[in-house]
Amino acid sequence: MRRVALEEACWYDGLATKGSFPDHRIPYKRESAERFLSRLTDFAEHRLPEMDRHGVDVQVLSLTSPGLQMQPDAKIAVEDARRANDLLAETVARHPARFAGLAALPLQDPERAVAELRRAVTELGLSGALVNDHTLGHYLDEEAYEGLWAELQDLDVPLYLHPGAIPPDEWHLLKGRPELDGATFSWATTTGGHALRLIYGRVFDRFPRATVILGHMGEFLPFHLTRFDARHGDLALEEPLDRMPSQYFGPNIKITTSGVYSHAVLVAAVLTMGLDNVMFAIDYPYEPTEAAVRFLDTAPFSPSDLARIAHGNADRLLRLPVAASG
Ligand code: MN
Repeated sequence: MRRVALEEACWYDGLATKGSFPDHRIPYKRESAERFLSRLTDFAEHRLPEMDRHGVDVQVLSLTSPGLQMQPDAKIAVEDARRANDLLAETVARHPARFAGLAALPLQDPERAVAELRRAVTELGLSGALVNDHTLGHYLDEEAYEGLWAELQDLDVPLYLHPGAIPPDEWHLLKGRPELDGATFSWATTTGGHALRLIYGRVFDRFPRATVILGHMGEFLPFHLTRFDARHGDLALEEPLDRMPSQYFGPNIKITTSGVYSHAVLVAAVLTMGLDNVMFAIDYPYEPTEAAVRFLDTAPFSPSDLARIAHGNADRLLRLPVAASG
């Protein structure tokens, strides 16, 4: 079975923006931090052999969080996005059957971000874009990003909304409990909240063909859909939504399995989101490829349904070249 892993992290040393991973606020073990760092800038030495060993055909690459999102200088962000996307395209060109890429966008300058998205897709052949949550506190439902949504819709490519560095505002909830920051808890709530801003900010009413992908089994959201709908009728909204909140999940919001290896959670996500809206991802190098593939291969679905999660949905959405060798 062909396996496409949709949210796989990398970094390039040549960027002016310095990767801030691992985030110093989160208490990582030293050996874990060292393993992450040594894998992020590598493609041939560790990454491809690990993909081969466990039967991963394609990794869809993107800059690791927070990418360029926290770069305070817009000019540097624009230059770095260009450089990062050129480097991503080079990596893909070296192994076109094994890698695809999601572009980095300099959202500090919304107009240049639109131009870079167009260049990355039409000239470099990248498959869409990945944004690491807010950009210096700015969210994608702001008016400045209308052009970005129009371009995403015109190009017919998805935007992967991934967690970012840290919440832009101080959360009293996290005070004295830094271990709750990051993947353990805060990322899912902040990124899930960003996705809800897009729904309630009516981005998908204005751009009904725009597609957003959420990682980590949907950042808590699939399990809350009936609650959104139940409360919706009592909310006094400035402008009513075109659809019930849950109806944006599927047509506009899709999810991946990155970092979540529970069949119970996967089955629940497929039941709430629909089989065509759930896609395999690992979250390399933060998660082990072997465990992710074992989780996928033993999931309680028929072979043809499993193939849609493993590669079919991603092949179609990202228009991936499907190698004859499979
Ligand atoms: Mn991730």
